[in-house]
Amino acid sequence: IRQVQERMDYLTWHDALTGLPNRLLLTDRLRQTLKLGQCDTRVAVAMVLDIERFGALNEALGAQVADAVLGVVASRLRRQLCTGDTLARLDGDEFAVVLAGVYDSRESAAHHARRVAGQLGAAVAEPLEIAGSVLRLGLGIGITLFPKYENDEAGEVLRRAQTARHRAGDPETGGQSIVFFDERMGESVEHRFRLEQELHHAINAGELRVYLQSQVDQDGRITGAEALLRWQHPQRGLVPPGEFIPIAECTELIVQLDRWVLGEVVALLARSAGCRPAPTLSVNVSPRMFASPGFVDELRTLLAPHPDSARRLVIELTEGVLVHDPEVVAERMAALGALGVRFSIDDFGTGYSSLTYLKRLPLHELKIDRSFILEAPHDADDAALVGLIVSVAGHLRLEVVAEGVETAVHADWLRSHPGVRRQGYLYGRPVPAGDWFGDYASGCDA
Ligand code: C2E
Ligand code: CA
Ligand code: CA
Repeated sequence: IRQVQERMDYLTWHDALTGLPNRLLLTDRLRQTLKLGQCDTRVAVAMVLDIERFGALNEALGAQVADAVLGVVASRLRRQLCTGDTLARLDGDEFAVVLAGVYDSRESAAHHARRVAGQLGAAVAEPLEIAGSVLRLGLGIGITLFPKYENDEAGEVLRRAQTARHRAGDPETGGQSIVFFDERMGESVEHRFRLEQELHHAINAGELRVYLQSQVDQDGRITGAEALLRWQHPQRGLVPPGEFIPIAECTELIVQLDRWVLGEVVALLARSAGCRPAPTLSVNVSPRMFASPGFVDELRTLLAPHPDSARRLVIELTEGVLVHDPEVVAERMAALGALGVRFSIDDFGTGYSSLTYLKRLPLHELKIDRSFILEAPHDADDAALVGLIVSVAGHLRLEVVAEGVETAVHADWLRSHPGVRRQGYLYGRPVPAGDWFGDYASGCDA
């Protein structure tokens, strides 16, 4: 009798054909997640999926084969998901997924949802051999985030995912097989997702470029340049880093980009050793790259054949990097400093600005964020702030670079701070590295 009871319980909550949770259990999970979501601001993901043209398949091959197909699809979907994720069969060829994760923002939830949906689609698209024929299945996926508003309900969540699912494959949505209920969110996630895929490809396809922007001293003499990444996209043209660095920074991609730029910059330093004077090159290193365990060794290896180049390499870090785990940061900086590498704080004044870390870390330079320089000539607060930064830097024996020197007005204003070096459109825009060296000195062999 107990076995019968257990079997009945099981059947109440599960689908007999696939053994997956059924609609009842799924609804229960949704309710539980919704309850969690009410206590904080986090966001969860639900999807509804079904097999494209399953009705036709059913008619052509018969119910038995169709059932076998559903079994295979169910296990392929399950394999792509994590343990805590719920995969349920709603009915017919309709499945639903509730992801276990909850996210701090709608953007990161949507981004993750898009990634998982892509994996589910790919898993189901693998050729499937059944009853002597090879089938290729497509999956339509509708996604919604929840809670969408206060008192969101399980039934509503499912209905939204289903609505999105019905738009999948429509000419209106461009025939896309993955659709978000919130179309605007869908579009931005889609754009981001594609860019990320293309960026992976860009590194190997040789689409990245290093541009250099001059830095000059108080008399306008060039002391070196900052390396700025560009992406020469085959269709979109030259993509500025503001459009792809923030996306890359969410993933390990940024480490690959930074690694590539560092390699290029070290090569440029080596090639410019014969220039008189040999220029200093600054390079932006992202928090993730700086924190990656192999960073110090990697750079050491890169610089080993060019010991003199290290002394002309400046690494720009943002304040955010420094406050995180200050001991590890100091250790890494010391290890690289021993090679001759110097450190600069980028966008200074926009971050945490704690004087304690300035004193404790082996720094070389502060770069005053361009927003302050741009306003300083006509905004007393910004002018005072720039003055303050310059005097703090003086006490700590740090060099200062003013970013965003766009016009003669900015340059004139900076005359009251003679020791400060300058960078900005007034002295030169970022240009391809080869062009920069061509202008820098025709006498050197770079
Ligand atoms: P950033 O490090 O603050 O770089 C300076 C940015 O200001 C550059 O934009 C530069 O073109 C721009 N700029 C220079 N002079 C002026 C001026 O006079 N007026 C104005 N309005 N802007 C000026 P860009 O090249 O678009 O780079 C944007 C950001 O992308 C950089 O800001 C940096 O945070 C990031 N980035 C660029 N290259 C790399 C890289 O190789 N690795 C990493 N991790 N980040 C990079
Ligand atoms: Ca920078
Ligand atoms: Ca900057």
